[in-house]
Amino acid sequence: MSTISAETVRQVVAEVVRQVVGASSCPPATVTDGIFPDMDSAIVAADTAWRAYLNCTMKDRARFVQAIRDVALVPEHLEFMARSTVEETGMGNVPDKIAKNRAVAELTPGTEDLVTEAWSGDAGLTTVEISPFGVIGAITPTTNPTETIINNGIGMLAAGNAVVFSPHPRATKVSHWLIRKLNHALVAAGAPPNLIVTVTEPSIENTNAMMQHKLVRLLVATGGPGIVKAVLSSGKKAIGAGAGNPPALVDATADIEKAAKDIVDGASFDNNLPCTAEKEVLAVASITDLLKFEMLKNGAYELRDPALIEKLAALVVDGRHAVTDWIGKSAPSILKAIGVDAPVGTRLIIAEVPFEHPFVRVELMMPVLPIVRVKDVEQGMDYAVIAEHGNRHTAIMHSTDVNALTRMAKRIQTTIFVKNGPSYAGIGIGGEGYCSFTIAGPTGEGLTSARTFARRRRCVLVGGLNVR
Ligand code: NAD
Repeated sequence: MSTISAETVRQVVAEVVRQVVGASSCPPATVTDGIFPDMDSAIVAADTAWRAYLNCTMKDRARFVQAIRDVALVPEHLEFMARSTVEETGMGNVPDKIAKNRAVAELTPGTEDLVTEAWSGDAGLTTVEISPFGVIGAITPTTNPTETIINNGIGMLAAGNAVVFSPHPRATKVSHWLIRKLNHALVAAGAPPNLIVTVTEPSIENTNAMMQHKLVRLLVATGGPGIVKAVLSSGKKAIGAGAGNPPALVDATADIEKAAKDIVDGASFDNNLPCTAEKEVLAVASITDLLKFEMLKNGAYELRDPALIEKLAALVVDGRHAVTDWIGKSAPSILKAIGVDAPVGTRLIIAEVPFEHPFVRVELMMPVLPIVRVKDVEQGMDYAVIAEHGNRHTAIMHSTDVNALTRMAKRIQTTIFVKNGPSYAGIGIGGEGYCSFTIAGPTGEGLTSARTFARRRRCVLVGGLNVR
């Protein structure tokens, strides 16, 4: 009996799709993995793909976006991505990574995000259309490796671009797995090959080569301050989605029981890896004890012994940075390292500390949440603004005082301001609005989506098509 190769099956499926959808003018494609030995060949392939992509219809694009969603949402794929990421990076937890990947696959806007503006009048018709840049260079973090590839992939392809990813070297395997799957699914849906590419060995050198390559027209960096500064110094148009250190302020008017649960839920989500997660709590003195009491009922464990708090600080903080080995680890494993047996169900470590403590200043990205007692809501706002470091990223406030909420929003100037909910409500998980894992505070695009990864182009027809 003769066997049919996987390649033949893919080509047959691609041909059937092409015949069924009919209207597509995408050129015929052969399957590739999208993984190249060096940056130059990856970028040249992506550029060729983009030029072919220009001939595809908007209906094609919508189908390709759907193909990305479909790949990500296969239950075995969600499980595999979550498990493999935890294994490879040593960070985060499987159930929350599944939730994050599902959220980006379902809630990242597609082609509907590209809204045309038009002016019509005696002089004719002018439109501004949201058009692609071409090849985008996207740098992704260890903290959300597959989430960022899915999220950027949908938005960038919806806007008509091709993308070369520079994944974090410590998330290479799972990023390769996903990019390979996406290429196969895209080609099977009729897309040009190599719309999403990367290199065999992601590295800082390769990222630098990507940043300098003349065919890369836009850079998008999702990561810490180093990479944001690097893309902004590249001489190219760049979108910087940088570090956060989100404060959560709780005043005396808040529903304390709910605030406590929301904060524990948000700060323990994926072991506190998201840049949006609560990183320090500022609690008005009159409700601090009640807040802690309620947090303990929801899976928080309080470190009270000052010597143990300092032992933990010595373990997880190194100067102005968190110690990489402890980033994204679980609360019980962190407690174990300082000789504490965590009660069953512990998901967050809390510790009351003075405002000057390194736990407040450093972006820890682990389930260790400092609590600072403040005398009133005004002092809480003063501290929140300082702790956020001017990142303009995310802040959370629990209060029923509309005036206080408004003052806080005006003072802190963050891209995301969550009121009376867990931090992840700000990225569409349990809050209204779309999802993004590239939140561009420094460069001001906010929660990025297809229209962010696009150029505005004016098209003017003089003296015609004004039918008013
Ligand atoms: P990181 O800055 O160490 O790495 C991010 C990416 O940049 C990686 O791919 C890395 O290889 C690359 N990189 C870093 N420095 C580089 C340099 N000098 N030259 C070339 N490439 C370089 O960040 P991480 O630890 O992977 O992720 C956590 C950080 O990212 C946190 O600060 C977090 O707040 C931030 N983050 C921000 C967002 C956002 O949307 N604003 C989203 C996720 C993560």
